[in-house]
Amino acid sequence: MNNKCIICGSEQSKRLTGRAGWEVRICSDCANALTVPAPTTDRQYDDHSFFQIPVEGALRWRHAAGDLIKFIHDNGCRGTFLDVGCGNGFAIEAALAAGFEAQGIEASQSAVISGRDRGLQIQVGYYQDNTFPDNTFDVILMNHVLEHSANPRTMLMSAHKHLKPNGYLCLGQSNYLGTIPRLLGARWYAWVPKEHYVHFSVQGVTRLLQNAHFQVKSTRLTTLFWDWENILASTLRHWPGIMLHNFAAFVNQTRLGFPFVGDQFNVLAQKQEGNR
Ligand SMILES: [Zn+2]
Repeated sequence: MNNKCIICGSEQSKRLTGRAGWEVRICSDCANALTVPAPTTDRQYDDHSFFQIPVEGALRWRHAAGDLIKFIHDNGCRGTFLDVGCGNGFAIEAALAAGFEAQGIEASQSAVISGRDRGLQIQVGYYQDNTFPDNTFDVILMNHVLEHSANPRTMLMSAHKHLKPNGYLCLGQSNYLGTIPRLLGARWYAWVPKEHYVHFSVQGVTRLLQNAHFQVKSTRLTTLFWDWENILASTLRHWPGIMLHNFAAFVNQTRLGFPFVGDQFNVLAQKQEGNR
């Protein structure tokens, strides 16, 4: 079986976890992990069932999008904003509220319809090198997008081209080295072997970004769901949930390492000049 890493080209890897029909292997060279066998296509999102969830049923994602935009804004980013793979547009809404001039692109028709119904500017289709003019955006966001691509470096190079000089790229990724995946093993929700080509680590994505002429400016570990808050708040109702969320946020900020590491991370990287 050909286990060649699509990030660095290495053929050396070792098994981390898996189930019948798929496994995850950690690349020995770049610290990212790969789904084996790889998904058969990265053009499978034209009518993705996830985005047929009513907007009101996806409030957790809205909350996470707002938190992500706050991270970007707190790091001093302003101006024109593109969300690549924007889904139904929660991050665009949050970016508009934060003062960005925001738009998105999304392959899923149902997601685009949902976003446009709420007045958002969303282009339908897959993100490509010629989708936007060069030097257009101050900020580009790819939140849970890069792992769906058969060629992540190509996507980053497109973002490099579409960003203005010194513009920022923000990535939101699942962290396969986090506490939750270590505890859950093959049951972790984020493996999604039919869709995810790569499982990134902070170290591995930093290397990929450098290779695509970006310099990492800020990184944070975080959680999305199935964290203490989400598991317990559903039974303990509202106010304990807020306390637990703050606790989860606190332990993630401490960066103490296992077992206090979130199963998500965000990276903000600045475009560097250089040959593509
Ligand atoms: Zn590799």
